[in-house]
Amino acid sequence: MERLNGPARLMIVSDLDFTMVDHEDPENLSLLRFNALWEAYYRQDSLLVFSTGRSPTIYKQLRNEKPLLTPDITIMSVGTEIAYGESMVPDYGWVQCLNLNWDRDIVIQETAKFPQLIPQSDTEQRPHKVSFFLEKPKSLEVIKALAERLDKRWLDVKIIYSNGTALDVLPKGAGKGQALAYLLRKFKADGRMPLNSLVCGDSGNDAELFTIPEVYGVMYPLGTFVHPSGTEQLMINCIDMMQRSYGDKQGKQYCVWLDRVSAAQIGSDAWLVKFDKWESTGEKRQSCLTTVLLTTKQAEDAFTWMHIHQTWLNGLEAKDQTTWYF
Ligand SMILES: [Mg+2]
Repeated sequence: MERLNGPARLMIVSDLDFTMVDHEDPENLSLLRFNALWEAYYRQDSLLVFSTGRSPTIYKQLRNEKPLLTPDITIMSVGTEIAYGESMVPDYGWVQCLNLNWDRDIVIQETAKFPQLIPQSDTEQRPHKVSFFLEKPKSLEVIKALAERLDKRWLDVKIIYSNGTALDVLPKGAGKGQALAYLLRKFKADGRMPLNSLVCGDSGNDAELFTIPEVYGVMYPLGTFVHPSGTEQLMINCIDMMQRSYGDKQGKQYCVWLDRVSAAQIGSDAWLVKFDKWESTGEKRQSCLTTVLLTTKQAEDAFTWMHIHQTWLNGLEAKDQTTWYF
């Protein structure tokens, strides 16, 4: 943190597995591309934060396996450990926060009563994280019963279930979101609040990153998109295609506009929005009736695009449907 004199221009807080690291990409092309971008344009005035469920041991393994950059801050063990810089200096202030109303021994005693909970390896058991494997079919009843037992022992804990396999028990004030909130409080106290913050993640233990006020979020995978041709694709792929078409309308009179926008709330956190989306390139005009399902989180004014469905308006189909992204 001491590397920058003033507030960071951008702070990226990213999960590692299946967010920063694509385990299905043996050549690590996306990661290397990100690295080049970061070093060229952001390293000198921005902050890179990794936030991972991994313990220090298996985080270091991943750093040996993948071409990961050195982050300014590493949040490990599902937000229960914060460390700074290349030498990974621990944040003892955070350790003290987590010690409040936490008793690891009681967690061990109570979780031992559930044979469905299979302990993870010793390296994954940390001072403020007790970790298990739990099969999905049993998960709901086990989590409910465990929460009740720990409540009876007057413990304030947080139970996080990720990827349908891993169950972590943490102090209530821990977690990726709380660790980020703690960092932001520290920056604010120093008068060095980052000018922009972006959080990125993909699974259960990332969800609370998106509940922190004043940060922007990218969740992968994003929703689904039904193209007017009838094919279904992931929204993330459409965004990829848009990136690749950068500049392809240069020199043309290109414009996009919306018509007949209407919105209806269909649940406590869900909205259905309809509009005609028009695009024109010189003489050519195309239009789609577009229906979007948006969800919102409590006490927040940000929306997540869950599903987009488009159908051509009569006579306004694109001749070349591959040039219509969404
Ligand atoms: Mg992940």
